[in-house]
Amino acid sequence: MAYKFIDNYRERGARKKLVVLLRERGIADERVLKAIGKVPRHFFFDETFWNQAYKDIAFPIGDGQTISQPYTVAYQTELLHIQKGDVVLEIGTGSGYQTCILMELGATVYTIERQPSIYSHTLKVLPGMGYKANFFLGDGSKGIEKHAPYDKIIVTAGAPFVPEILLKQLKIGGILVIPVGDEKSQKMITVIRVSENDYDKIELDTFRFVPLVGDQAW
Ligand code: SAM
Repeated sequence: MAYKFIDNYRERGARKKLVVLLRERGIADERVLKAIGKVPRHFFFDETFWNQAYKDIAFPIGDGQTISQPYTVAYQTELLHIQKGDVVLEIGTGSGYQTCILMELGATVYTIERQPSIYSHTLKVLPGMGYKANFFLGDGSKGIEKHAPYDKIIVTAGAPFVPEILLKQLKIGGILVIPVGDEKSQKMITVIRVSENDYDKIELDTFRFVPLVGDQAW
């Protein structure tokens, strides 16, 4: 892919329209919408497909993976209630688009990807866009113990269950957002760690993610 980081009036206009669409679809957190309005999603596409970048659709990024649909990114981000300075673990780096949205909200992001080609690509491309995350290659279903505890954990692939090990890496008061279900559809789950041993779990809308593959996953 040839990357040209040019953000002209056409793309900025398309981004504004995307924000209007997401607001209409129910995304209410203006900080999240502002972040969507700021991150140039076309930077994650080959120039040939820039006309697709601001549609509310997932799109192939190679190696059988996709850049998530903007609505899904906004939905998960809204559930995390990111505060400036939050330490966030993202499992499933993919293109890095979600990573950038988290950073726009002021989070320090630790992000882990299991596919070496995707990991190397995103590691190389993101700093050129001005975003500095902490990248890891490996099985994120076990979290990253070394940098725990986290204020927030986001899983961007579909899991068969909520991995216990991720719950233990949350701070008290921390939030985990994870899609859980079978290979065809998953419910978005939010878990809040309310005390050392107590968690509040809420089940929300249905989505379809690529599978979370690993030790505490498929
Ligand atoms: N949010 C990303 C974006 O906007 O580009 C999309 C993420 S994509 C839907 C899910 C990613 O999770 C894929 O890149 C996949 O390789 C990765 N993945 C799956 N299982 C994983 C695991 N156990 N640890 C880390 N990454 C994993």
